[in-house]
Amino acid sequence: MRAHPAGPRFGEILAPAGAPAAPVDAEAMHALAPGVWPSTAVRQGGEALTQRAVTIAGVDLRDLAEEYGTPLYVLDEADFRQRAAAFRDAYDDPEAPADVFYAGKAFLSTAVARWVDEEGLGLDVCTGGELLTALQAGFPPGRIAFHGNNKSVAELELALEHGVGRYVVDSFEEIVRLAALAAERGVVAQVLVRVTVGVEAHTHEFIATAHEDQKFGFSLAGGQAEEAVRRILKLPSLHLLGLHSHIGSQIFDTAAFEVSAHRLVELAGRVRDEHGVEVAELDLGGGMGIAYGDDDDPMTAKEMAELLRGIVRRECTALGLRLPRIAVEPGRAIVGPSTVTVYEVGTVKPVDLGHGHTRHYVSVDGGMSDNIRTALYDAEYTVRLVSRVSEAAPVLSRVVGKHCESGDIVVRDCWLPGDLAPGDLLAVAATGAYCRAMASNYNHTPRPPVVAVRDGASRVLLRRETPDDLLALDAGLG
Ligand SMILES: *Cc1c(COP(=O)(O)O)cnc(C)c1O
Repeated sequence: MRAHPAGPRFGEILAPAGAPAAPVDAEAMHALAPGVWPSTAVRQGGEALTQRAVTIAGVDLRDLAEEYGTPLYVLDEADFRQRAAAFRDAYDDPEAPADVFYAGKAFLSTAVARWVDEEGLGLDVCTGGELLTALQAGFPPGRIAFHGNNKSVAELELALEHGVGRYVVDSFEEIVRLAALAAERGVVAQVLVRVTVGVEAHTHEFIATAHEDQKFGFSLAGGQAEEAVRRILKLPSLHLLGLHSHIGSQIFDTAAFEVSAHRLVELAGRVRDEHGVEVAELDLGGGMGIAYGDDDDPMTAKEMAELLRGIVRRECTALGLRLPRIAVEPGRAIVGPSTVTVYEVGTVKPVDLGHGHTRHYVSVDGGMSDNIRTALYDAEYTVRLVSRVSEAAPVLSRVVGKHCESGDIVVRDCWLPGDLAPGDLLAVAATGAYCRAMASNYNHTPRPPVVAVRDGASRVLLRRETPDDLLALDAGLG
């Protein structure tokens, strides 16, 4: 180990304006907060302090880095299954039947689709590619819901051919398109109307009167949702199964879900009044927030389920409606915390911030090609040194990628040991949702593999791309 750099000691370090507070001691700098890290992640004891590394499902991240290379997504299968089961159990109420659909867009592979099936959940897909993955995995098509604001004829044909259980229709064109394709096959497609309820929620805030200037759904305020219902009820090859609303992602404010549920039930009441039809299902979408840092305090699946059941029951009673089946569609809340990304440090560049502050730019061997969320949404992440324990004083750091963009940031503000050096391994927590799923080949970078760990063993879910994979697309080669 290198000598500790001379400098301030723990407890004396002042953060520059806007930066998070420095860790109070080496333990805090290396802690793996429960909820942020996968449930089986632990920092091993036993060896010399400076040799202690992190294991997930009993597998040392250093060994995984050695075997599979970096960057590497490591997925804790037990954590994924526990979260899926927690949602299933939270909504398993004989007096208020409900379904949980895992939103496959957060991360999907055939193995993941099988876990979702084994844990008794349904599956949301929103493209032909996601649908094909589910079908290849042998996922029961009847428990698949097909989303998307521009499903193509080919995609709808594929879904109808395999008997996909439900279609969340999103436009008047789609109603006509799906009805015609279903009629051609002599089948009746089960549809839910995607309603824009006028609630927009992201992270810690929501706006209940948001104007509806976005691409998804039929506007409630503008009357299009009711018009969609009218048109569907006239088409014999479509059956109106229910109403659907999805209000955003990484939501902490339960009031946003309450307003959304309230407006859907009101609409169900108007549909009953106009047509004498009581819709069988209300789908309240996904968007439940997870902890990316110690300060995030997400609600549990159980709390959320009780809240939604309560509000739907209350509002239905008030309107004299039969209690519909409830559906929810968590993606991030199931897969997000299950996965960490392991990177190797390549360079450490100190930059003088003035006023006596320094920032270390820590470059890792991946970046915005494997995690676009920081650049795209200013997402915040927790990062730890996982190949050893350091007692060096922390330095305000920024973990950056290797791509040709100054916005190529993985973790904007964090405190990492001041003796970080090339070859050290860092892990970024809670990268299971929308990281591999949104990964790109920017700068001709092969996408990293996803390795699942369970009971002391690892297996590849998605292999690493190779330069040959990338060159195979190049039609200029003989
Ligand atoms: C994205 C999406 C989800 C999942 O959202 P999370 O934030 O991952 O829970 C669920 N339903 C629909 C319709 C979506 O578009």
